[in-house]
Amino acid sequence: MGDGRVLPTVRRGWAGLLDLVYPPHCVACGRMGAWLCAACLEGYPAFRPPWCLRCGRPLARGRVCPACRRARESAASSLDALRSVGPHAGALRAAVHALKYEGVRVLAAPLAALMADTYALASPAVDVVIPVPLHPRRIRRRGYNQAVLLAQGVAERLDLPLAEDWLRRERDTASQVGLTRTERWTNVHGAFRVVASADAAALAGRRVLLVDDVCTSGATLRAAAGTLHQAGATAVAALTLTRAPIGADGRDCDAVRPAAR
Ligand SMILES: [Zn+2]
Ligand SMILES: [Zn+2]
Repeated sequence: MGDGRVLPTVRRGWAGLLDLVYPPHCVACGRMGAWLCAACLEGYPAFRPPWCLRCGRPLARGRVCPACRRARESAASSLDALRSVGPHAGALRAAVHALKYEGVRVLAAPLAALMADTYALASPAVDVVIPVPLHPRRIRRRGYNQAVLLAQGVAERLDLPLAEDWLRRERDTASQVGLTRTERWTNVHGAFRVVASADAAALAGRRVLLVDDVCTSGATLRAAAGTLHQAGATAVAALTLTRAPIGADGRDCDAVRPAAR
């Protein structure tokens, strides 16, 4: 499946009516019958172990990939591990777009199942699932937070509690699109806050699994993980549906914390 595939046209304003108006059709190839067809899923280059124990990218040998080993010498990140179903391309990129911008919420369940099944392979144990929050203003505009929909499915399938309200988005950060890596980090740094509640106090000593749809630079996940660590979480792993492909500069999502702290 090529990256440039044109999505089936679905008018945005119809979002809530989609299920009624359209019978299920594959958001990647248009075939009728399912929102993401078996052929598109089979053709998708999903990440599978053996993978880097830190960033979850496929690895021919060893336990940690060269990029994560190099990251030990650079500034520390607050994410202990990262897993994604696969690269942000093809069928899953189409699925993210449909879930996020075209209101095809029914996609959340099958996509969350893919995520949970990926995390179940060679990933650190966690105690609680937390979605990456959107700012309330964005939720009002979109009507829902796709990360919450995915986190619900992931928590259910992994049989873990979901803590939907522990983490809040304090600032409505500008879109990350078109920003450099440094600008992305500055943009989201300090954007999150752990809610002061009895429930959230239970974060102390917990191992958290952060859930989001896409990891681009990793800046958002790192900022959220940093806030959770400050609130007492002992470990923060993240799980996303897709991951930005490795860029021309040989670097990509570098959210994961170096081994040496
Ligand atoms: Zn398809
Ligand atoms: Zn790695």
